[in-house]
Amino acid sequence: MLVVMQAHATEEQVRDVCRRIESLGFKAHPIPGSTRTAIGITGNTGAVDIGSLESMPGVVECIPVSKPYKLVSRDVKEDDTVIRIPAPAGDVLVGGQAVALCAGPCAIESAEQALTIAKQVAATGVRLFRGGAYKPRTSPYSFQGLGEPGLEILAEVRQRFGMAIVTEAVDHESLDLVEKYADVIQIGARNMQNFSLLKRAGRARKPVLLKRGMSATLDEFLMAAEYIMSEGNYNVILCERGVRTFADHSRNTLDLTVVPAVKRRSHLPILVDPSHGTGRRHKVLPLSRAAVAVGADGLLVEVHHEPDRALSDGMQSIVPEEFCQLVEEIRQIAAVLHRSVN
Ligand code: PEP
Ligand code: MN
Repeated sequence: MLVVMQAHATEEQVRDVCRRIESLGFKAHPIPGSTRTAIGITGNTGAVDIGSLESMPGVVECIPVSKPYKLVSRDVKEDDTVIRIPAPAGDVLVGGQAVALCAGPCAIESAEQALTIAKQVAATGVRLFRGGAYKPRTSPYSFQGLGEPGLEILAEVRQRFGMAIVTEAVDHESLDLVEKYADVIQIGARNMQNFSLLKRAGRARKPVLLKRGMSATLDEFLMAAEYIMSEGNYNVILCERGVRTFADHSRNTLDLTVVPAVKRRSHLPILVDPSHGTGRRHKVLPLSRAAVAVGADGLLVEVHHEPDRALSDGMQSIVPEEFCQLVEEIRQIAAVLHRSVN
């Protein structure tokens, strides 16, 4: 259910309606739009008695939302959501006019490795740095990440280069720490349906980058985002990272068709990860071009200065020089679409 407020409704009227919704035992989610505020209602299993809400001052109407996802849906919020990520060198916006690039190694391996890569990424003008301190690996014997010392290295990258930090939380314990150090909390493909972790991310105060599960349908992907938003965290960035198919020429099949599909159904921004989406270095640039051309709000790219010695995902990591070229080409493609790059 969605309560549509009048364009000139006062903050107090919005607050009163929220209070009434809560007193009925539901959760109220005020959603400011460019022309008016709407209030999403969740937590109702059946119909909400709309009579008492519709008669309240400032209310235009109550509209039932038939989709299984509500807060994520364009029906509830028409305008694109723009997420503001605070960084020491100025806020980075994701989902607006600019294409947001995020780059860095798969895993933080050492201070020297992270700082070397960060320096080269920062030199391209890119403002978001990625790197895992907690790695969800297929084998328990593979490098699992440095843990909190890795987060400390990321804090140093943030401080030295002014970039915002995107890093993954794999469970509740790591999420507590990631929330402390990072600017964006990444929830990986393998955890896309870890519902208790999604709820915890929904209670975090930082934006969440939610990666698509490797066999998730669009509805499942959006429902995972709904889990986060239903807990009150509306700053969710989606990320397509490839799905499992019968194709064996690449690690995953990067589903670029999901980008316009997401744009139609949801107001949330969506990034594309061509690194995990293909698993091969030579495919990263062509798929990056395609992702931006198809309307992605940004890219998440793995970059390593010595990919052959990387402790994870070296095969799909591009070197800083290649990343430089990627940024150049993305600027040109973005310009055709009247977008800038940050
Ligand atoms: C990653 O970003 O390094 C990662 C583990 O991604 P995914 O969850 O998409 O596999
Ligand atoms: Mn990786």
